[in-house]
Amino acid sequence: MVTKKIKIDSQKATPELLNDAAEIIRSGGLVAFPTETVYGLGADAFNEEAVKKIYKAKGRPSDNPMIVHIADKGDILNVCSEVPPAARLLMEKFSPGPITYILKKNKSVNDTVTAGLDTVAVRIPSDNTARALIKAAGVPIAAPSANLSGKPSPTRAAHVSEDMDGRIECIIDGGDCDIGVESTVIDMTGEFPVILRPGGITIEMIKEYIPSAVENTRLTGDIPKSPGMKYRHYAPNASVTVVEGDKRDAVLKKICSLCEENGGKRIGVILRDKTEFPICADFILYAGRTGSEYASKLFALLRECDDKNAELVIAETDRSEGINTAVRNRIYKSAADNVIQVF
Ligand code: AMP
Ligand code: MG
Repeated sequence: MVTKKIKIDSQKATPELLNDAAEIIRSGGLVAFPTETVYGLGADAFNEEAVKKIYKAKGRPSDNPMIVHIADKGDILNVCSEVPPAARLLMEKFSPGPITYILKKNKSVNDTVTAGLDTVAVRIPSDNTARALIKAAGVPIAAPSANLSGKPSPTRAAHVSEDMDGRIECIIDGGDCDIGVESTVIDMTGEFPVILRPGGITIEMIKEYIPSAVENTRLTGDIPKSPGMKYRHYAPNASVTVVEGDKRDAVLKKICSLCEENGGKRIGVILRDKTEFPICADFILYAGRTGSEYASKLFALLRECDDKNAELVIAETDRSEGINTAVRNRIYKSAADNVIQVF
């Protein structure tokens, strides 16, 4: 199949301009589109055959459910059966935006989208192109990230092309994603909200409105609440080692010694910032000083390490909170939990 490419200035996107892409969604095809988090791979959420194609195109395990995207808060009862008051409050504060609510599903949502669960993950993206596409399609859009399963999520259209050219009908290029890590996933079906995946809306922001909210982003039993958490994720071809600590000198010293120990391998190092330390890597990439910069560049940097044929990637992190919690969550997974803490 030839993948159609549509380029759009996200500021100027309107439902009318996205009519061709919306027609592909309505007729059961797949369209990759930008959001403020990462690029999504979308299908009509009400068309079970179309949703099956997403699992196939990504090579995604069929027990990993998808997020359903809607354009407006007013559309929420099209996909879920009730919205508890706490969910309404969070929606008022943070939606549209990078947060996904797990709610009780309603009958119109098929089992393929939810992987057989009786709950549905719902998000209202703030990105102009994403909302215009959903409006033009006139249906909720089921969409996981538009990467091959296990690879780093795409934050620009070129990443989507690398993984999806020839596998899907259309890619909308709306430029680079702002946030760069996937949405916060929060379960609103229990006694108190539980964050299953950290993201752009942080636990600190949520607790300001609902102090009882807790975080549970690690596996805690055989049946994880969020099925996607059990899979290796976000991994480049290289093996990844994370070096983490609050004293930068100690972190850099450890990175230096890891480079020496692994001298036979092609090594890429991801640092926050420039340094005087003599790091003997084959190449060094810079993620930026703030958590937001790191988040927005992380997946692109992991892909760049592949382009540069790294065999080992060593990445610097620190223990600060806020969006950095999401950065750590993603990078730990890309490293299969190979994290060295330096004190
Ligand atoms: P992605 O589509 O790659 O952004 O991943 C979506 C995430 O949301 C995965 O970790 C899924 O396991 C999780 N998810 C989707 N639907 C549900 C649900 N009904 N209950 C719990 N987690 C969900
Ligand atoms: Mg994903």
